[in-house]
Amino acid sequence: MTADLILGKEVSEAIYSNLRERIDVLKAKGIEPCLAVIMVGDDPASLVYVNMKDKKCRELGVKSLQQHVPADTSQEELISMIRKLNDDDSVHGILVQLPLPAHIDQSEVIKAINPAKDVDCFHPFNLGNMVIGEADFLPATPAGIHQMILHYGIATKGKHVVIVGRSNIVGKPLANIMMQKGEGVDATVTVVNSRTERFEDIIRMADILIVAMGRPRFITADMVKEGAVVIDVGTNRIEDPAAKNGYRVVGDVDFEHVKEKASAITPVPGGVGPMTICMLMMNTIKAAEMGVRQ
Ligand code: NAP
Repeated sequence: MTADLILGKEVSEAIYSNLRERIDVLKAKGIEPCLAVIMVGDDPASLVYVNMKDKKCRELGVKSLQQHVPADTSQEELISMIRKLNDDDSVHGILVQLPLPAHIDQSEVIKAINPAKDVDCFHPFNLGNMVIGEADFLPATPAGIHQMILHYGIATKGKHVVIVGRSNIVGKPLANIMMQKGEGVDATVTVVNSRTERFEDIIRMADILIVAMGRPRFITADMVKEGAVVIDVGTNRIEDPAAKNGYRVVGDVDFEHVKEKASAITPVPGGVGPMTICMLMMNTIKAAEMGVRQ
């Protein structure tokens, strides 16, 4: 058996076409959706992500307000920038690119963002609402995985979802989303981490295995149940002298072998990756729509 492919590009294109219609409705009311991105310092990976977000905003017709400040910017200065954006009615979404330099308390910065503009959904207010199933926003990567599951009609009700990894941006929120009551969720969820005993026994029980470890090709075919759905969040650079930049990106799953055992699988790249920015755009449009209702 060779698994069906779960492709983030296909899912995101369907969502973008809906978002374009919603943007047109907003613009007809004189509202230009606007995402403000603050970047502190010059971390090369962060710069790549910020530029990707800027490009996608432009493609969709969302105003992209980029504020790039030096690495020695103080926490007070950063929070004061956020407060100005909080008070600016023309700004609908605010995002601070992480990680921040070590002298800045990330948690304090996130808490300074108005929850109604917290399109990354990192603010404790929004995370709390997510836990009780009343969220305006969901964190981008977990929300993107949920959208993929819905798009491909993957059965989740009563299924055993095993999530490898318990980070605040992927594992923990994803577990909360998957255990809610509702469409494309309603699952029985187990979250495993680096301390988990009988790790392989547990993940072999997964009907849907979602892996967010940051360990290249760690999950091998012998760890996967025949017919399982496998969603690989991992994005790891490995050296490859034959590749254009001397490296290529692989997931946490040994794709070539696992695809022969799974019923459906995400490739890396091309799987979960495109969904994260897509969900950020969806949250920004939603924030702009919420602004209209207020
Ligand atoms: P993270 O904060 O480093 O968390 C990794 C998790 O994996 C931790 O909970 C860790 O356990 C667990 N883990 C590591 N090694 C393990 C092992 N040998 N056995 C069991 N569990 C193990 O990572 P993250 O931010 O969630 O990201 C995970 C991966 O997803 C990375 O490759 C990242 O680049 C990628 N990612 C992709 C997207 C996207 O848009 N496609 C978005 C976000 C992240 P402990 O907690 O016990 O240490």
